[in-house]
Amino acid sequence: MIELRDVHKSYQMGKVEVKALDGVSLKVSSGEFVAVMGPSGSGKSTLMHILGLLDRPNSGSYFLGNRDVTKLSDEELAILRNRLIGFVFQQFHLLPRMTALENAQLPLIYAGNRHLKEKARQELEEVGLKERMFHKPNELSGGQQQRVAIARSIVNNPLIILADEPTGNLDSRSREEIIGILKRLNQKGKTVIVVTHEKEIAIHAKRIIQMRDGRLISDEERQAGACVIEQASLENAMVNETLTKLRHISGEKKFPDYARQAVFAMLSHKMRSLLSMLGILIGVAAVIAMLAVGHGARESINQQLSSLGSNLLLVRPGSSKLHGIALEAGTVTRFTFSDIEEINRLTDMVQSSYGMVSGRGQLVYGNKNWNTEVDGVGSAYVTMRAAEPVAGRFFTEQEVRSKEKVAVLGLTVVKQLFGDANPLGETIKINLINFKVIGILPEKGASAFHDQDDVVVIPLTTAMYRVFGKQYIDAIFIEAKSPELLDVAQKAVSRIIIKQHRLSKDEEDSFQIRNMADIRKTLESTTKTMSLLLGAIAAISLLVGGIGIMNIMLVSVTERTREIGLRKAVGASNKDIMAQFLIEAVLMAFLGGIAGILLGSGISILIAIFAGWNVKVSLSSVLLATAFSLVVGVVFGLWPAQKAAKLDPIEALRYE
Ligand code: ADP
Repeated sequence: MIELRDVHKSYQMGKVEVKALDGVSLKVSSGEFVAVMGPSGSGKSTLMHILGLLDRPNSGSYFLGNRDVTKLSDEELAILRNRLIGFVFQQFHLLPRMTALENAQLPLIYAGNRHLKEKARQELEEVGLKERMFHKPNELSGGQQQRVAIARSIVNNPLIILADEPTGNLDSRSREEIIGILKRLNQKGKTVIVVTHEKEIAIHAKRIIQMRDGRLISDEERQAGACVIEQASLENAMVNETLTKLRHISGEKKFPDYARQAVFAMLSHKMRSLLSMLGILIGVAAVIAMLAVGHGARESINQQLSSLGSNLLLVRPGSSKLHGIALEAGTVTRFTFSDIEEINRLTDMVQSSYGMVSGRGQLVYGNKNWNTEVDGVGSAYVTMRAAEPVAGRFFTEQEVRSKEKVAVLGLTVVKQLFGDANPLGETIKINLINFKVIGILPEKGASAFHDQDDVVVIPLTTAMYRVFGKQYIDAIFIEAKSPELLDVAQKAVSRIIIKQHRLSKDEEDSFQIRNMADIRKTLESTTKTMSLLLGAIAAISLLVGGIGIMNIMLVSVTERTREIGLRKAVGASNKDIMAQFLIEAVLMAFLGGIAGILLGSGISILIAIFAGWNVKVSLSSVLLATAFSLVVGVVFGLWPAQKAAKLDPIEALRYE
C-alpha cells in the first residue's frame, strides 16, 4: 500500500545541510503494525511527516496505492490526509476551546461529513470516553486526551494511522491503554505505523524498523502482515476515488462550521474582539448620524424651496468688480421703491413682487424677552410665500404704505413670548417700539441649521424707517407668471435695474438676479461638498477600523499557529484555513457595522429629540454602511487569512 523509493529530505541549517532522510526505501502493506525506532535525530519524525503527506521529499518517490503522491497538489494532499490518514501526536494537539466531542469531529468538517457526527461519538465510546465527551481538554488527563486524539484520527475511517511517539508524554498505565487501543485498531484492519522509543510498544508490533542518521539500518519482520492481492487493488481504488470524488466538497456545506468557529474564536476573546470592532463601530455610527442630519437638512431645504415656488426671482445687491478686481463695499446697487414699481409694470410677465429688509430685533412682552429675525416685507409676501396666517390676518398694502406698527409672529416667537396665551391684539415691543400683533404665521418647521418659525414679519416701510433706519431695500422677490417666462422676466428686470440706476457696462454686476434653479444648484453643490467631506471622514474611520481588525487578526493567526497546523494535519486545505479566518474578520467587521448603525441611529434620534432638527436615517445609508463594513472585513482580513493559509503544517505544529 505504501512504497517509498530512495527518498531524500534535507534541511538547511545555516551553511550546513542536515540530511534528515538519506535514501530511504520502504514498503508497508495493508494491515501491518510497524514500529519505527532509533535514536533522537535519526529522521523518524521526518519520515512520519512524509508518510503522512505533511511534507514532501526533496527527491525520490512515494506511492500510496498506485499513485505517486509527490506529484499531487497541496489541495489533493489535504484531501488524502483527511480521508486516508489519521495522525496521533506526542503532544495530543487538541484544540483547547473545544469539547472532546468537537475535537473528535474536526476531520468530519473538512470532509464535508458533518452529518456523520454520531461517528465521533461512537469512536469516543470505543476508546472509553463516553462519560467525558463534553469536557474540554484541560479537564482531561493526558491519557484521556490522547484517546480523544485517537478517536479524532479514526473518525474518517482512514486506511493508515500514523502515531509519532503517542505515549511519550504518558504514565505507564495510560501507555498500556493507548497501546491496547492501537493494537485493537490494527486487529480491525488498520495499518498502524508508530514512532517510539519504548520497547513495550515495539513488542506488540508485527514489524520493527530501526533508523540511524536518516537511513533504515534494520527491518525485522516479527509476524507476517500479509497483503492480499484483492485488498491492494481495493486500496488503489480508494486512493483514486478519494481524489476524484472529494476534490470539490462544496463550500456552502462547510460554511456553517466556519461561522461557528468564528463566533467561537470571538467569544473566547470578548474584550479583544470588542476593542477591535470599536473603530468600525465609531466610524459607521458617525457616518449614519451625519448622513441622517445631512439628509434631514436637505429635505428641509427642499421643502423651503418648494414653498417658495419655482417661478421666483431674487434680486440682490452684488459685489461690483472693476476689471475683475472687487471694489470696496458700498459700490453696490441699492434698491428703492421705484425699482419695485417699475418691476410691477411688467404686467405681462410678472405676477407680483415685494421688497424685503431683514435684521435682528429684541422683542419684549411683559417680562419676557426674545431676540429674533425681523423681516420687513411687502404685502405680496403672504401669497408668494404661502404665509396666510393660521390665526388673525396679514397686513395690507395700505398698512405697508402708512408704516403701520403691526406684526405677524412665527410660532417659535409666540411660544417664547406668550406661551399658551393668545397673542392676537396684544402689544409687543420690537427694538423698543410698540407693535400690535395681528396674526400668527403657519408652521414651517426647523431644519438642521435654521428654525424657520423663529421670525417676526412687519411691513417693509415700518422696518426700514422706524426699526432699522435703513434707506434702501435689501432684496426684491419677484414671481414670474409662469416658469417659461422666468428667463424673459430675468432679462427684463435686469434691464430695468440698469436703466433705473444708470449702470455702466462695468457696473452691471453690482446687482445679482438669481432664479430658483440657480439657488437650487448652489445648495446642491454645498450639500455635495458636505457629502464629500462626510465621505472622507467615513473612509478614514473605516480605514482605521479595518487596520484595527487586521491587527487583531494577525495576532490571532500567530496565537493560533498550532491550531492551524493541526487543522491542516487533519485535512484542512489552504482554502479552508483562509475561509475560516476571512469569515472571522468579516464577521467582526459586520458586527461592528451593525452596532455602529444602531448607535448612529440612536444618536440621530437623540439629535431629533433634543435639538429639534429634522433628522432622517435612510435605508440606503444603512445598506451602504453594512456593505462598507463587509468590504472592510474582506479587505483587511485577506492578508492575515492568507498568512494563516500559507503556514507550513509541520512548522505550525512545532510552533511554541
Ligand atoms: P527524530 O524524529 O528521529 O528525532 P527528526 O526527523 O525530527 O528526528 O530530525 C531529523 C534531523 O533533521 C535532525 O537532525 C533534525 O535536527 C533535523 N531537522 C528536522 N526538522 C528540521 C527543520 N525543520 N529544520 C532544520 N532541521 C530539521
